[in-house]
Amino acid sequence: MIYLDQAATAPVRREVLEAMWPYLTGEFGNPSSVHGLGTSAATALNLARESVAAVLNTRSSDVIFTSGGTEADNLGIKGIALGAPRGRHIVTTAIEHEAVLASCDYLARFHEFEITVVGVDADGVVDVDEVASRIRDDTTLVAAMYANNEVGAIQPIEQLAAVTSARGVPLHVDAVQAAGWLSLDTRALGVTSLALSGHKVGAPKGIGVLAVRGGIALEPTIHGGGQERGRRSGTENVAGAVGFAAALELAERERHDDSVRISEVRDRFIDRVLSTVPGATLTGPRESRLPNSASFTFGNVSGESLLVELERHNILCSSGAACAAGRDEPSHVLLAMGRSADIALTAVRFSLTATTTDDELNRVAEALVDLRKAKVSR
Ligand code: PLP
Repeated sequence: MIYLDQAATAPVRREVLEAMWPYLTGEFGNPSSVHGLGTSAATALNLARESVAAVLNTRSSDVIFTSGGTEADNLGIKGIALGAPRGRHIVTTAIEHEAVLASCDYLARFHEFEITVVGVDADGVVDVDEVASRIRDDTTLVAAMYANNEVGAIQPIEQLAAVTSARGVPLHVDAVQAAGWLSLDTRALGVTSLALSGHKVGAPKGIGVLAVRGGIALEPTIHGGGQERGRRSGTENVAGAVGFAAALELAERERHDDSVRISEVRDRFIDRVLSTVPGATLTGPRESRLPNSASFTFGNVSGESLLVELERHNILCSSGAACAAGRDEPSHVLLAMGRSADIALTAVRFSLTATTTDDELNRVAEALVDLRKAKVSR
């Protein structure tokens, strides 16, 4: 099998599973229990928190474990917007993940927020000046992603942070796809809150992190026993948190070398597809894209039918966001980039893993050429 769907999910790494194992078995305590089993779980949780905080260059008290990226986005956006609203206006972008767009939509429908959605250019990159021009005196939050999950476009987060902090507006960043490839130094980036998901970096599904800069008022979205300093109730997923910390630490250690190697492999694949596969057009920027991202439209073939055919060749990829797959609707990201609905339906996303080889990608390019010759049509 050639797995090119890392942006959808990744397998749990062996080292991660080994780090988690004790907390799923002998050390199974509840961190809130006062007996020894409980305190040892609490210690493991705190060590995991410190380890995540070190990668994010933040204080461990700023790290909140969540059930994943979706919850981290929900908590970051709703929590900040409702925690200390300067007003009821949010600025976000047209290429965000549904976790962000639907959180904004919830605030609009139930809390009378007004949402300004800023567009992107043909490469899927947001214009910082346009965001700046949309910030108003009553803007409570700007929410933007670090790198797009469908076309890999890296967004100008540091510049956005400069603009938002100059206006005293918090910036929430969805960094789910950036983890393992781009720096997550929250201080250097200047972000207020940052959302991460475990299953994109080799931890299990069902664990994530929201890092929120200290001093920011955060209204919880899940109410209960007051865990995570009252910001996210529910018995903590100790093994998940330990696994997340182990995975993030490994990803950070390997980030530089992996990024250099895989972006070279990716560039050779893009060149080959563009020069040999009829109708292939790259989506997203050529340069400023995630090292593992190669995404195309294919002219007049349905992306979904290409996926089915590629799977017959044992090649697994996706037509865009995994959560939107199967809906047979054009991607909102490609539409925002100015592609027609017809072209958007021909999209295929290849998201490479850190171990993807030239040989594997050459087989993918050959399969694409064969499929185009066989005229897989919409
Ligand atoms: N944000 C982005 C950019 C994503 O790609 C995803 C998942 O694909 C999420 C948020 C949601 O993360 P999770 O699957 O952990 O809920």
